[in-house]
Amino acid sequence: MTDNKELLAKVSDVTTETEYFSPIPHGYKKGKTKYVIVMGTVMSGLGKGIFSSCLAKLMKDKGIKVAPIKLEGYLNIDSGTLNPFRHGEVFVLDDGMECDMDLGTYERMLNQDLSRSNFSTSGQIYSDVLNKERHGDYLGRDVQMIPHITGEVKLKLRRLAMQSDSDVVFVEIGGTVGDLENAFYIEAMRELAYEEGPGSCCFVALTYILAPKTLGEQKSKAAQLGIRELMEKGIQPDIIACRADNEVSETVRQKISVFSNVPFEDVFSMHDSDSIYKIPEMLKDSAIDTEVIKKLGLEVKQNSSHEAKNWSLWQNLTNKIDKQTHEITIGITGKYTSVRDSYASIINALEHAEIALGCKVNIQWIEVTDINQDNVASQLSEVDGIIVPGGFGVRGTEGKIECIRYARENNMPYLGLCLGFQMAVVEFARNVCGISNANSSEIDANCKAVIDILPEQKKIEGLGGNMRLGGRNIEIKKGTNADKLFGGKESVRLRFRHRYEVDPAYIEQLEKEGLTFSGKAPDQPIMQILEISDHPFFMGTQAHPCLTSRPLRPDRFFLGLVAASRKCKYNDESLPSAIEAVKALFE
Ligand code: GLN
Repeated sequence: MTDNKELLAKVSDVTTETEYFSPIPHGYKKGKTKYVIVMGTVMSGLGKGIFSSCLAKLMKDKGIKVAPIKLEGYLNIDSGTLNPFRHGEVFVLDDGMECDMDLGTYERMLNQDLSRSNFSTSGQIYSDVLNKERHGDYLGRDVQMIPHITGEVKLKLRRLAMQSDSDVVFVEIGGTVGDLENAFYIEAMRELAYEEGPGSCCFVALTYILAPKTLGEQKSKAAQLGIRELMEKGIQPDIIACRADNEVSETVRQKISVFSNVPFEDVFSMHDSDSIYKIPEMLKDSAIDTEVIKKLGLEVKQNSSHEAKNWSLWQNLTNKIDKQTHEITIGITGKYTSVRDSYASIINALEHAEIALGCKVNIQWIEVTDINQDNVASQLSEVDGIIVPGGFGVRGTEGKIECIRYARENNMPYLGLCLGFQMAVVEFARNVCGISNANSSEIDANCKAVIDILPEQKKIEGLGGNMRLGGRNIEIKKGTNADKLFGGKESVRLRFRHRYEVDPAYIEQLEKEGLTFSGKAPDQPIMQILEISDHPFFMGTQAHPCLTSRPLRPDRFFLGLVAASRKCKYNDESLPSAIEAVKALFE
């Protein structure tokens, strides 16, 4: 891997003499890496990330090395300050980057860890250019959208190509063609294709086929206009993928083909599927992957035995999707319950556990604002297990604490994630240790703060990108349930995003009363996993294990919760306990 600093230093080798200002990293070989560029037309929310990650997966399975990048239009430097209610969950990468939830889709589909070089926003691009301007890098020139901003975009892609040493960089452009926010990205892609030369870029336009109920047929006009808009910007799509509820008819595909100069066989139907994990198969059947490979001349990179092995692993997974022997309901408490995107990773992690264990998981969203001691039992009467997910701020915390108390006292399986871990500590401190005004100082400044701000966080001002973020190791305590759940591993790595922690001053008292801290940071007294041992499943983690759950590597906390909830619901001796079930899967 090339050193980033070295690349940065050498990148100022740019031509300023001619009109071709295109910063190219030192040592970059044109044509070595190919680019697949995915853009959306007609409307947002087409599932560009899902489509592009599935296509990238098919290519990776063949032995072609891929590196995805999402280019976001907004001016925020990262997604850390975005409200998940408006924009979907904030995904956290191992290196601490707070990014768009689509990066989660890529990590899950590709079964590959990504880093900050796989994510960019307009804010990052502008701020890099402005910093260079102050540094004197463009001396003598007026700094402009073209070529400087577009140059910075190309630079980012080329750096990624070099750092990842990939055969293909998958570029997903956020938003829709025609948006002002992403117009410079589209121009940068046009320039990239021109500079890299024929056969180096494959443009895929994702579009939407309307099918108004009143007409009862698919209409292609909106798609045609969307593609025309792209062509007006100087980009000729190579492939068109048509999103639709149902399979797109041949006539509609023909119309789009004629209108857009794209051969009929390169206009694909990408209709809805009941599971995103079945989309790779749909794409493979349509042969869109081989078409992209052909256009980019990547045939030589394919390895058929590699592909056969990976494909059979994937089919083992998809074959299990509809074969469930049991069914449970997990209640998720949270204030963003109206938007499923705000909890995307949790939903995915539950789905991974569902597939692995053959146990259907229904989700019941629990609005906690009005939950109290009197109504908690009835509010939770239909769920077999509970998750209290991560969150910030005061609203709903008392309701969450009531749910946790109910789960603890009634042997109902419980999994607390980040804030849910902290609230489990507060509940235990209040109702078992008798510290009646125990709370988190995030919620109540005058409480007995069993959860308090991390010492390192006290000095920090402002809110962007400065929590305790990213992948950290967790040291597991021998002999605990966590030890058994993780098969005796001494250390596991999970991702974090928090400012508060268990105040170390209370650890001894909490542990004496029966709460076990079974995972902690190796070098600091930061508690990272908790459990109650004589409970069917009562665990919490300061981390967000949902972020690293993958279809081919389901997370063990989620597996444990689902297995325990199944056992509690069916009350069947022959069903394995949480730990037995997880052990059996990883043997
Ligand atoms: N608000 C809590 C903290 O900052 C929990 C954060 C979270 O759930 N992601 O520590």
